[in-house]
Amino acid sequence: MLPQRSKDYEGAVHDLEGSTLVSEVGEPTAGPGEVLIQVAAAGLCGTDRHIVEGSHGCSARAIVLGHEVSGTVTRRPCVN
Ligand SMILES: [Zn+2]
Repeated sequence: MLPQRSKDYEGAVHDLEGSTLVSEVGEPTAGPGEVLIQVAAAGLCGTDRHIVEGSHGCSARAIVLGHEVSGTVTRRPCVN
């Protein structure tokens, strides 16, 4: 079992300096047409590897790795 962390909203943040740290990322929001997921597990894939190695071409100053997730939808858009 993984140790419990004390922060509510953390991510593996990779920055342009080449560092990857688990950092506080702030409470996420769901925009129109999006859902909010309480992540149970996240996986790293080849895209994340290319971002860390600098061969992806991503121009963001910092990016949260691990876009392949499993979890529970906690907020979804209203559909009337
Ligand atoms: Zn992927």
